[in-house]
Formats: sequence, C-alpha cells, structure tokens
Amino acid sequence: MQQDKLRLRTTRSFVAYHGGLKYKKHMVSRREFLLKLARLVPLAGAGVVLCDPFRVLFDDGLSFALTEQDELVLSAPKARYWASTGRGVEGVSHEHRSRVVRCLLCAQGCFIGEGERGRCRTRMNVKGELRSLVYGRPIAIHIDPIEKKPFYHFLPGSAAYSLATSGCPLRCKFCQNWEMSQAAPEDYRVERKTAETVALNAATLQAPVIAFTYNEPTVFTEYLLDIAGEARKLGLRSVLVTCGLMNETPLADMCRALDAVKVDLKGYSESFYRNVCGAELKPVLRSIKQVARSRVHLEIVNLVVPTLNDSDEMVKDLITWVLNEVGPDVPLHFSRFHPNYQLLNLPPTPVATLERARDAAMAQGLRYVYVGNVPDHPGNNTRCPYCGKEVIKRTSFFVTEVHVKGGRCAFCRRKIAGVWG
Ligand code: SF4
Repeated sequence: MQQDKLRLRTTRSFVAYHGGLKYKKHMVSRREFLLKLARLVPLAGAGVVLCDPFRVLFDDGLSFALTEQDELVLSAPKARYWASTGRGVEGVSHEHRSRVVRCLLCAQGCFIGEGERGRCRTRMNVKGELRSLVYGRPIAIHIDPIEKKPFYHFLPGSAAYSLATSGCPLRCKFCQNWEMSQAAPEDYRVERKTAETVALNAATLQAPVIAFTYNEPTVFTEYLLDIAGEARKLGLRSVLVTCGLMNETPLADMCRALDAVKVDLKGYSESFYRNVCGAELKPVLRSIKQVARSRVHLEIVNLVVPTLNDSDEMVKDLITWVLNEVGPDVPLHFSRFHPNYQLLNLPPTPVATLERARDAAMAQGLRYVYVGNVPDHPGNNTRCPYCGKEVIKRTSFFVTEVHVKGGRCAFCRRKIAGVWG
C-alpha cells in the first residue's frame, strides 16, 4: 500500500516533469493504454499491473507507461561540476533558452540545453539541473590483473576489481572498447550498485585494488569518488585509467581520492587529437602534469597506430615532453594497436615500431619503458635502470618473478620508482 502511494506521487510529479521535456510525450490514448494492459496482465497476473519494465499507473482515470529511459532520468542524481548559464548562449542557437547549463567536468565544456545531453551522453540537463545518468549503473565488472590496465609499477600481481559505465567524451576512431565508450546508459540493462556495495564486493573477492577503466571514467566522476571513499575505509586502493581530458578541479578531487592514475597520451599532436580522437591535446598534457605533481602514482600509455601517430618525429616529441615535464621515473608504455572500430583498414602495429620507440625513449633517458599488448615480449619486463638486471618478469599480464624488496632492486639495492606495498 505504502509502495502504491509512493508510485502515485511519482506519477503526479512525472506528469509535471515531463511537461518540460521535449523528447517524449507520455500521455497515451485509451487504445494504447488497453494494448499495454493486455500485454502486461499475463505477465503480472490479473489485477496486478505494477511491474517492470513498464509500470502502468492509474491516476484519476489517466494512465501512461514509465519506460526504462524515464526511470533512468528520474533516478539520476544531481551532478557536480557544472554551471548555469542563466539567460542562454548567444551564437550557439537563435533560440534563447533560459535553462542552459555548462558542464565543467571535462575540457569539452558542453553547453547543454534543457532535456539534452552532453557529448559523452551521460550527463543530462533536467529542468536546468545537470544530472548524472550513469551514477550507480556499472555495465561491466571484471577482476583483472593490474598489469592489464596497464600498471607495471603499482602493486604488481594484484587483482583489480575493474568497473565501467557507458560513455566517453572522446570519439577515438581506434577505440578498443567502443561498445561501452560509445554507448548511451539506456543501451545496457544494469543492476544498480551503490558505492558501498562495489567496495564491499571488491573486498569480499579479495581484490586489493578497484580500477575505474574500460570506458572513460571521468564521465562517472561522482560515482568514482564515492566508491574510492568507501574503498579507502576498507583499506582498498583505487586506480583510474583515463584519457586525461577532465578539468583541473575534478582532477584535484580525484587525486585526493585515488592512489594511481594511468593516462593515455594518444599522440603528441593537436591535429591527431582533433582528427582522430575528437579532442584537444593541451588539456591532456595539463592533466598529466597535475597528476605528476600530486602524491598519486602515474603511468603513461601511448597506443601506437600505424600511419597516424607512429612517425619517428612524433614519438621523439612525445618522449622529450615526458622526460622534461614529468621526469625519467614515470613508466611509459608503447602499446600495440589492433584493428578495431573505425580503423579496421589498418594493420596491427609492427612490433619493430614499438621496439624502436622503446629504444629511443631509453636512449633519451627514460628509465622504465615498455612494449605493451605483445604478450611475452621481453619489453614487458622491468629492468633495474642502474644494474640492468630484470627485477620483474611478466608473461602476458601475469607476474612470474619479482626481485624488488622494500621498493629497491634486490641485486644492487637502488630504488625502483613505484608503489610496492
Ligand atoms: S563530461 Fe560529458 S557533458 Fe561534461 S563536458 Fe565532458 S563531454 Fe560534455
């Protein structure tokens, strides 16, 4: 009974709420109502029609259905990091809309009209208020070795409870996870999980690390921060795998909550970022420097895509920037591209290209440089930069030998950069 009252209240506010949205009208004709009812009664049993995914409701003779998308919007909590633009944005549209908001979460800086979403598809302007459509809605959860992220200098061999939602502010033509990153929240059926539940599940499965990964986790920053807070209470660490496009304030909040960040530096060229990723390079460089200045462990990955970002000149510029701006101790991974998404016409990156990039980086002075996505390549192993001995050996994503003790090389006792315990 109490539940029915609650639903009835929801129904009334829903009518008012939908008056302000243009994308869908939910008053249905008597015929449509009867058709819906006819479909639902066999499922729910005669006389009981309050069931998912459609809830048919009665309200003073009026009725309509609550779709999954409606539920998604109605249950979306208020987002952080946005501003109201007041009277609208001149020049963007001839129409002055009074409830346009600007999302301040990432460098795309979307202006979002009422009832619309940002570029990442996960943040929606609902009656002048920005809401997160992915809070509490993970679409993928797996336990991975932390080497898969990849983190090679952060608790090697640890299990990472890895979690993703849908959505991404970028449009990388080579995306390796496009089914998740380019999806909208309603494209997946999900089981909602509170931040507390996620942290508890990770602890129960004895994963010492929670990884935010697969899609671009910036789009679920609010959820991520809450999970990291719960994880810390249980003594777990949290790590982020990101494109680095977030703005300074959310990244500062993330650095307070997280323990390690891996940034994809996709290429050292503005035109590459613009044409292949639909984003800008500058904010990514700024984010990498910000993480390097924080107490958070940092690693960088460069996915080398044949013909697009693999020129010796571009690779050299990238190495020089890393060396000068974040220093020789930040691990750098040159990873192999495999044809995917919109770049099925390109071959996988030749291993020789990755080896050449690694040799160049080490020759310039970077201490920890890896060949990624090539299982069993010796470039997966960590060498002590001082005595040259292999201190961590890896087969595929698995650690087979560790000769780092107390953060030092077991052979020459010099310090190895990273987080080891
Ligand atoms: S997080 Fe999404 S909505 Fe916000 S600015 Fe970036 S792309 Fe736009």
